[in-house]
Amino acid sequence: SQAALHQAQKMEAIGQLTGGVAHDFNNVLQIIGGNLQLLKLIGGVNDSARTRIDTALAGVERGARLAAHLLAFARRQPLQAVVIDPAVVLMDMEEMLRRVLGPQATIVSDLGENLWSTAVDPSQLHNVILNLAINARDAMPDGGTLTIRARNIDSAAAREAELSNGDYLMIEVADTGNGMPPEILQRAFEPFFTTKPTGQGTGLGLSMAYGFVKQSGGEIVLNSAQGEGTSVRIYLRRSAHAPAQEDDVPAPALSGGV
Ligand code: ADP
Repeated sequence: SQAALHQAQKMEAIGQLTGGVAHDFNNVLQIIGGNLQLLKLIGGVNDSARTRIDTALAGVERGARLAAHLLAFARRQPLQAVVIDPAVVLMDMEEMLRRVLGPQATIVSDLGENLWSTAVDPSQLHNVILNLAINARDAMPDGGTLTIRARNIDSAAAREAELSNGDYLMIEVADTGNGMPPEILQRAFEPFFTTKPTGQGTGLGLSMAYGFVKQSGGEIVLNSAQGEGTSVRIYLRRSAHAPAQEDDVPAPALSGGV
């Protein structure tokens, strides 16, 4: 539709702009960080100065994380795709989901049978689902249900869902939280768009999810109704190959929450 086209063009333009800025910003941070590291090695640096340097280095690290998320949105993140068995990867995430959602939320795992494999960067997928889980938690302050669902989507179903032709694996993260009014839903993928109080939201969770999925050749669809909940569907292209052996899959990075 016309609205979807306009939205895609807007996201493209924002991606171009933020990608360039984040790249240069990251280079500057590397120079600052490298010199701070060297400063620590120079003789005569006392404890008090060392503490200041460490504080500055922590700031550099936080800035580098923000830049990495922006680069993910702009699709300039180097991805290390491996063929995964989604059932294994998603089951491995259940403990993480439990930890993020806390005791007052129910977690439902609804993984279809014989799920198709997909080629994806496992640590990035982990980060995306972590960020979706954080959003679900924030949308359900009084508890609720988070459902993680996975399905095979054949080309007929893909056509129905208005996706480009082909077979997909769908991963859905759905919550029964507050939901979003249309004017927020419309802007939710934009980098730095957040309705959360300062310090709690960066507005980068959904934008990095968007960039990651697009860069992986997939699609991401956001549905939300106020007072009912939100669903984020990620469509990843089916891989014709068998999943890599467990040992070949790099362990997911521990960072990720923004
Ligand atoms: P952040 O979580 O840091 O605000 P995001 O890009 O992940 O950044 O989300 C942007 C905004 O979209 C949020 O501030 C919130 O208003 C809305 N949002 C995202 N996920 C959900 C959800 N599951 N339920 C309700 N609102 C959401």
